[in-house]
Amino acid sequence: MKSKKEAVSIRLHQCAKSFANGTRALQPLDLEIHPGETLVLLGPSGCGKTTTLRMIAGLEFPDEGGRVLFGEDDVTALPIEKRGVGMVFQNYALFPNMSVGENIAYGMKIRKIPAGERAERVEKLLEMVHLQGLSHRRVDQLSGGQKQRVALARALAMEPRVLLLDEPLTALDAKLREAVRSDLNKLLRSLGITAIYVTHDQGEAMALGDRIVVMERGKISQIGTPREIYYHPANDFVADFIGAMNRVQGIVSGDRLLLPNGSLPLPDAGNPMNATQQGQPVWAMFRPEDVQVVDITEADAQCLRGKLINTFFLGDRTRFEIEIGAERPVIAETSRRGWWEAGQQIALRVPAEALVKMVPAAEKEN
Ligand code: ATP
Repeated sequence: MKSKKEAVSIRLHQCAKSFANGTRALQPLDLEIHPGETLVLLGPSGCGKTTTLRMIAGLEFPDEGGRVLFGEDDVTALPIEKRGVGMVFQNYALFPNMSVGENIAYGMKIRKIPAGERAERVEKLLEMVHLQGLSHRRVDQLSGGQKQRVALARALAMEPRVLLLDEPLTALDAKLREAVRSDLNKLLRSLGITAIYVTHDQGEAMALGDRIVVMERGKISQIGTPREIYYHPANDFVADFIGAMNRVQGIVSGDRLLLPNGSLPLPDAGNPMNATQQGQPVWAMFRPEDVQVVDITEADAQCLRGKLINTFFLGDRTRFEIEIGAERPVIAETSRRGWWEAGQQIALRVPAEALVKMVPAAEKEN
């Protein structure tokens, strides 16, 4: 099987979607997906991810004025079977009483691809998804992970221009999800196919996406690489959705942010925020894994002090919640082995470079 076809770009232009019952699932949105990239649509339930995917598939059509383009082809009015897309769903959607091979070959049979070529392609696809030798097994005798691999092979069998995946790993248990995710990542990279992947799981989005589109209530909140989204979230919603974020309010004083129980260093003194906000209240945001927990006996002037209100041992890391006399406790997560009990006094250090964002209190959203 030719694995590398010319990858295609996808453009959505002013695509809005309202349903007959009056639900406005999508505000008019513009989106460009680069040829060969894996783009993840990420967001909470009901934000419009699946509707966007279904519009790309040709299972839903945009409201008047919206356009969907594959490369230079306007596919807005084309139904799914004319778009050259392969789809993988959460519930596999396999034919339960057919064999693995028959499931994979189904579309090729409908398109009258000769039996010899079908068999050859099925073998190659089975190899690609690590299911060699299982062609004759009935799919109802497979594990969830194996079924999902068959669904993927079936979607790739017709050599689609675009691969669309709607929460394909959700039905799998955590360990298997990670294994299949890793294989899928390698496969998508080696195929070089344009792929759109819907999930509400931020870990999956980060692991698989070349870029991530974070959606909220029918709108795009931010588009960027996993690192851009994580380290430069466009707003509070994105910051919280893509992981946990601490927010503390203090007063800028020289190169430090003064808080009730100590201070934090601010990034380099040349930072315009430091100059323009001297003496002003500012929100500083930082990720839990950037907070260092320090025993109170080792605390110095650079530390913030507080009281530990909760400790969670999570195996690969420990999570501490620390009351620092601010509106909300600070969350610290560390893979180090230190342990303190709730109720103890504790100190924190947050390196200046860990400040993801600073927002003048006057400009803060929400
Ligand atoms: P989930 O993660 O729960 O699947 P989602 O982000 O994929 O959510 P969509 O399925 O795109 O969200 O739905 C967006 C909005 O449109 C929701 O409010 C949903 O209830 C509504 N919706 C989706 N399909 C229809 C439909 N066929 N008729 C009416 N409303 C719909």
